[in-house]
This record gives sequence, C-alpha cells and structure tokens, in this order.
Amino acid sequence: MDIGSLKSFLDERADEYEYTADADASELTSFRCGGKVRLAVSPKSTRSLCALLRALTEACIRHDVIGLGTNVLVDDGGYDGVLVITSLMTELTIDGETLTAECGRGITSCASAAQKAGLSGFSFAFGIPGSVGGAVAMNAGAYGGEISDIILSADCWDFGERRIVTLDREALSLGYRDSVIRRGGLVVLSAKFGLQKGDPDAIFAEMTDFMNRRREKQPLSYPSAGSVFKRAPGHYTGKLIEDAGLKGVRIGGAEVSEKHAGFIINKGGATAGDVKALVELVTSRVYEKFGVVLEREIIYL
Ligand SMILES: Cc1cc2nc3c(=O)[nH]c(=O)nc-3n(C[C@H](O)[C@H](O)[C@H](O)COP(=O)(O)OP(=O)(O)OC[C@H]3O[C@@H](n4cnc5c(N)ncnc54)[C@H](O)[C@@H]3O)c2cc1C
Repeated sequence: MDIGSLKSFLDERADEYEYTADADASELTSFRCGGKVRLAVSPKSTRSLCALLRALTEACIRHDVIGLGTNVLVDDGGYDGVLVITSLMTELTIDGETLTAECGRGITSCASAAQKAGLSGFSFAFGIPGSVGGAVAMNAGAYGGEISDIILSADCWDFGERRIVTLDREALSLGYRDSVIRRGGLVVLSAKFGLQKGDPDAIFAEMTDFMNRRREKQPLSYPSAGSVFKRAPGHYTGKLIEDAGLKGVRIGGAEVSEKHAGFIINKGGATAGDVKALVELVTSRVYEKFGVVLEREIIYL
C-alpha cells in the first residue's frame, strides 16, 4: 500500500476517518507555521486508530501521531508522510474517583469534567492546551502537579506486538517532560486517572487561580508551543534567557516573548525556519553567557 491506496482505504471507511491531503501544518499546530503535510488523518475511534496504525506499519509508510499539536513544529519543507491526528477521539467517562479519557480529549476539558464531578487532582492541567495522549507522552505539568501524580494506567497501541497493551504508571516511566511513549513504539489510546473527592467550589477557585496566573505571565494572545526549553537544573530557563538579553529578540516573524522569555511566539508570518534559527540563537547565547546547555522541549517534525 502507498499513500494513494491508503486514500482508497480511507474513502471506503469514510464514517471512520477524516483526512486532508496536503494539509497546512499552520492549521494543525499551535505555532501556526510549517509546510504541507502529505496526508493528515483523523480517526474517529480507538478501533479505527489501531487499524490505521497497523496498515501504516505493514505498508512501511512514514507516520507520526499527534494530538492537538501544541508542542510540535513542522518543518517548512513539510512532512512527507501521514500525520495521524487524534483530536476526534474525545470520549470521557467518570466512574467513582477514576476519570478515563480517550487520547484526543483536551486535558483542560478533563480538568473541568473532574471539577464538575467534585474530583480534585486534575486542576494543575487546567489551561494546558494539549490532549490526553500528548500530555501522557510529555508528562505535562504545571504549578507543582504533573500527569505522573494522577495517572493510573494508559491503554496503548504497541507497534512491536501489533496489539493493545495496558501500561501502569511504573511501566509508563514518566520523568520530567518524558515517558516511555517518547522513546517510540507506543501510541496512547486512552488513559485512566485516579482522583480524590473534593469541594467543587474550592477546585474551581484553584483552577481559576492557575488560569489567571497563566494569563498574567504567558503571551497567550500569540501563537506558540508554550515553553520552548526544558527547565535547566538549578535555573529558571526564562530568567537565563532574559539575563542573556534576549527578550524581544526577533528573527523573521518569530520573537522571544517580552512577556515570558521562555516562550517563542509567532508575531505574524513566522516560518518554522525563523523559529528554529531563534531556538539556535537562544541556545548558543545562553551557553556563551552562563555555560548552561538548554534542552529543547518542543518537538520538530
Ligand atoms: C500556550 C501554551 C502553554 C503550555 N503550557 C504548558 C504547561 O504548562 N505544561 C506543559 O507540560 N506543557 C505546556 N504546553 C505544551 C503542550 O501543551 C503540552 O506538552 C501538551 O501535553 C502537548 O499535547 P498535544 O496534544 O498538543 O501534543 P502534540 O503537540 O500533538 O504532540 C506532542 C508529542 O506527543 C506525542 N503524542 C501526542 N499524542 C500522542 C499519542 N496519542 N500517543 C503517543 N504520542 C503522542 C507526539 O508524537 C509528540 O511527540 C503549553 C503549550 C502552549 C501552546
């Protein structure tokens, strides 16, 4: 099977998939830049996602899986393969103190659902714009909480075994913005989170506080992928970048945010090349000035 016959496969199953050929990466990612994606496919169910992943593996077609595209940058040269997008897989159920969500569900919306059900533990994620799958892969976190604090298990497609496996928290090997998922071979299909009973008003107040802090500190009115770099041990990365005199520095349409130096924003018309050049500039200036090696958090596709 090649990409042409994959389209026929998808056309025959039009109720199971949506797809766009030569999709604009700028419409699939929060950075709002990048080239064309040969085929962007959105499965509507776990079964369809697994069938697609199996077909792609068997046909040796290059592919990657993304969620809401809030931590990735697609090259200006485009992506010559199939980008599988999970954003149509959004089922969520709550059973007692366990919340289960499909991989494409926004984690902010999981936090809201938990609050409405009077369950605490998910508030830290309120305002993180990614999906459950992306959040598990990245072990997303904020304000002292992270996915590893609440996850019980994740059902994943295992490329090696070509079947669904359930990984518990230990097997997910969650570290700082890292997990076994990042090392390849697994796709998160859904995840279960263990929460505790709490007061909905108090949980709402905590979520509102976190959102207000985001609005105050982060340049949310511009496209970005959040913090570009990981926290450097013993340092505040944003402060290092600011102290290196880089706030407001611009290459093309990409700019080191004046509001939060850890963010690179798309001020309008930025290319992925502009962003990458700015990432390199920041990395080398911070190293020259402080001898600290910044590690990139955002993922290049
Ligand atoms: C304004 C802004 C604020 C942000 N604030 C935070 C923050 O406070 N804390 C934080 O941790 N992050 C933050 N982020 C970054 C980002 O939202 C998180 O990393 C989020 O978890 C990524 O989810 P996503 O669905 O967008 O992943 P994507 O960007 O789509 O993908 C990210 C990575 O996860 C992989 N992936 C996605 N889905 C799956 C899946 N189902 N199975 C396997 N792998 C998958 C992709 O292959 C890729 O490697 C912020 C981003 C923005 C734009």
